Amino acid sequence: MEHNFQSIPVKLLCEVIDLLNPSMDNYLYLYDTVNDFFYISPHAVNRFPISDNAFYHVLENLEKLVFPPDFQSLRDDINAILTTQKSEHNLQYRWMDRDYQPVWINCRGYVVRENGKPLYMMGCINEIGDKRKADNISGFLGETSLKAFLGDIQKVSPNGFVLRLGLDDFKIINENLGIEYGNKILRETAECINRCIKKHQTVYRAVADEFIILDFSENDLEKASSLYKSIRHAVDESVKANHYEAVYTISGGILSCSDIHPDSPDVLYSDLMKLSEFALNEAKRQGKNRFYVFSEQDYAQFLKRRRLTQTLRRAVNNNFEGFEAYFQPLYLMDSHTLYGAETLMRFHCEEFGNVSPAEFIPILEATGLIIPAGQWILHQALIACRQFKQHIPDFKISINVSYVQIMKSDIIDEILSAVSKYQISPSNVIIELTESGLLENNLHFSSLWSKLRAQGILLALDDFGTGYSNFHYLYNLSPNIIKIDRSFTLQALTNTYDYNLLSLMSSMAHELNLKLCIEGIETEAELERIAGLHSDYSQGYYWGRPCPLSQFLETFFPG
Ligand code: C2E
Ligand code: CA
Ligand code: CA
Repeated sequence: MEHNFQSIPVKLLCEVIDLLNPSMDNYLYLYDTVNDFFYISPHAVNRFPISDNAFYHVLENLEKLVFPPDFQSLRDDINAILTTQKSEHNLQYRWMDRDYQPVWINCRGYVVRENGKPLYMMGCINEIGDKRKADNISGFLGETSLKAFLGDIQKVSPNGFVLRLGLDDFKIINENLGIEYGNKILRETAECINRCIKKHQTVYRAVADEFIILDFSENDLEKASSLYKSIRHAVDESVKANHYEAVYTISGGILSCSDIHPDSPDVLYSDLMKLSEFALNEAKRQGKNRFYVFSEQDYAQFLKRRRLTQTLRRAVNNNFEGFEAYFQPLYLMDSHTLYGAETLMRFHCEEFGNVSPAEFIPILEATGLIIPAGQWILHQALIACRQFKQHIPDFKISINVSYVQIMKSDIIDEILSAVSKYQISPSNVIIELTESGLLENNLHFSSLWSKLRAQGILLALDDFGTGYSNFHYLYNLSPNIIKIDRSFTLQALTNTYDYNLLSLMSSMAHELNLKLCIEGIETEAELERIAGLHSDYSQGYYWGRPCPLSQFLETFFPG
């Protein structure tokens, strides 16, 4: 068919734009170059800073609406249209929204000419930025649609559930197999989800590798978990059908709508996202390839931990405000005399009071804050040791060191230089390392560990008896001392099997020239019971509770 676009009146074209306005998310436009007139889909006024969808003095007016750094390239392109025979406009650049934030658009248009002279250009503007209305890979609606939908219903009916799904370790899949393969997995997962959902359930694709399913029919969490299980099954089958080319799994966080109580309707979307994200993260944290059902109590704990983390960070930054070093005596078993002290970290703050090390040490480790905090306590310990040594020259100061410090900081060199700074002999220092998280086969670790030993610092393996491959560690790490954890001591005090086991371990330790320290002795009766175990040292409330330096000095070195 021959087109005669030249003869279509501009007014008619504008009417076509109006006609299509309700059925388009994109923006149609017409640029009448003869009259320097611009007409755009009326709904553009809701999105862009223009008061009218029709205006003259086109470039002048566009300049007010185009993101300034991009205006020159638009002007150049329009100039080319007006002064050359260029017939297509295809430019990706930025406009501004009503808040004057940049919005990426792709603007395309066709120039209709008469005798080579441009009459008008007509085309379409698409938003191509991160609007995520729908996702082309999975075919599901995107986050923006979810937001709009929740905005429409204003209040989640308390009847219903949210199932947020996330592929486990998707980043690793992308890294190992490439983004294309990652997209294929996303598509397949989307198909698995599609096969499992019912008509009344809606799926949205959230961030990269996550999907959100909404079901507003009933508050049945059983249904939510069986939906999860069926999707997981479908994913397993799809992995199998692909001959295990890539093995991947999926986790799910389940949230009942009654758990969402937004303060106002406009935070509904962010609350739903926040709580469902927490639920999904919990499922992953608990081992992945499983589901987790949201619990108010767990969430409160999570928030507390987050606040505590911030508090600890601030405290470390604020010259370790609220941190304190406590000292607990270590006794020689044969003579019942003071042998040394273990340095134990304490933390106190206004909001949480005294926080147990069992709670804050793991946070310090997870955040890396254990590195500065560990340096700090090292210095506190050595400063104290100088004072203790005035009374007992061979006093042993014991310091806990986390594997995080060894792997991620220069703690070994810091220990050695601090020891020389405070003029303490390396043989006055015991470094305690817990088994948990220990990377026994790590060569880096072993070499650092042996560096300390070579300098004459004593090494203790802490909490012995709580992990599994204990004997292995003895061989690989060859410590000087093993410390028996209180939980093991308690068992040995109450049942014969464990008592005999501990007795055997004691003999073996001595065979290997190791010293044994039994922790957690609280009473005289307990002390008597362990006497037969021939441990070298013991520690516990019986000899003294952990206390501040001043109190330790008063108690053990009065006068
Ligand atoms: P740990 O190294 O096994 O320390 C011994 C723990 O047993 C201390 O708990 C101590 O207060 C407690 N304890 C000692 N005697 C008795 C007793 O007779 N009965 C009972 N029930 N408990 C006793 P604390 O101070 O709460 O420390 C807990 C853990 O936190 C420590 O266990 C250690 O793993 C870690 N920690 C403490 N301070 C530091 C530190 O400066 N650095 C590192 N990395 N970890 C630390
Ligand atoms: Ca310890
Ligand atoms: Ca211990």
